[in-house]
Amino acid sequence: ASGKGGVGKSTFALNLALTFQYLKLNVGLLDADIYGPSLPKLLNTNEKPKIKNKNFLPIEVNGLKTMSIGYLIPDEQANIWRGPMVIKAVTQLLRDVAWGELDVLVIDTPPGTGDVQLTISQKIDVAGALIITTPQELSLLDVKRGISMFKKVNLPILGVVENMSYFICDECDKKHYIFGKQSSHKLANNLGIEVLGELPISQNLIKKYDIKHPIMTQKLSDVVFKSFFDISKKVLNKIKF
Ligand code: ADP
Repeated sequence: ASGKGGVGKSTFALNLALTFQYLKLNVGLLDADIYGPSLPKLLNTNEKPKIKNKNFLPIEVNGLKTMSIGYLIPDEQANIWRGPMVIKAVTQLLRDVAWGELDVLVIDTPPGTGDVQLTISQKIDVAGALIITTPQELSLLDVKRGISMFKKVNLPILGVVENMSYFICDECDKKHYIFGKQSSHKLANNLGIEVLGELPISQNLIKKYDIKHPIMTQKLSDVVFKSFFDISKKVLNKIKF
C-alpha cells in the first residue's frame, strides 16, 4: 500500500513477488489497483485470462501467477467505478481466481485507503500491510494518514519501505540522499512502526521489464537485489512464515 500514487508501489509489489519466488515460494501477485492497474504494462503482456469452472485462470509468467483488472477490461474503464462496483470487482479478483495453492499472495492496492482496502480487510485474512513511501514530506504525510486508517480497519502494518531514498552515481559508491536522509525513520519511530528497508533510485529497476532477465536473477551483489532480499526476509519473519 501507499499513501499516494507514483511512489513506486507497483514496481515494489512486482519485485517483492519475484524475490519471494527466488526464495522458492509459490507466489501470486494480485494487482488490485482497480483505478489504475499497471501489471499488464509492467509485465508487457496483453494476454487475456482463460475461464475454467467459472473461475479465471491467473496469467502465469515464469511461474509467477498474476491477476489484474487490467487483464479483464479495457484500459481506464474502471477509473470511474465507485462503491459497489469496486467492492464487487475486488471480491471477484480475490474469490473467483483459481490461484491454486500459494505460499504468499502479494496484493498491490490503489493509493490511499478506500473501498479496495476495506473490502480486502473484510473478505480475507490479511497477514499484513507494507507501506511504500518516498522520502519527500508530502508522501510521508499521506503515509501518516494512511497508517491511521489501516489501524481503523484492523489491518496489521508490517512496516514501511522507503523507495527512491538515495542515488549511487557511477563515479563513486557513495549513497547520495538527495531528498534528505532517514525521513521515514523519524516518522516510523513516532508511530511505532519499523522501516524495513530503503531502495535506491535505480535504472535497473525501471528498465523495461524483461521477464526472462528479471532483476532477481542478476548479480547478488546488486544493491537493489540485496535490498529486496533483506526486505523480503524481514517480511517473512514478520508473518511467521
Ligand atoms: P505507483 O504504483 O506507486 O503509482 P510505480 O511503481 O508505477 O508507482 O512507479 C512510478 C514510476 O517511478 C514508474 O515510472 C517507475 O518505473 C518509477 N520508479 C519506481 N521505483 C523506482 C526506483 N527505485 N528508481 C527509479 N524509478 C523508480
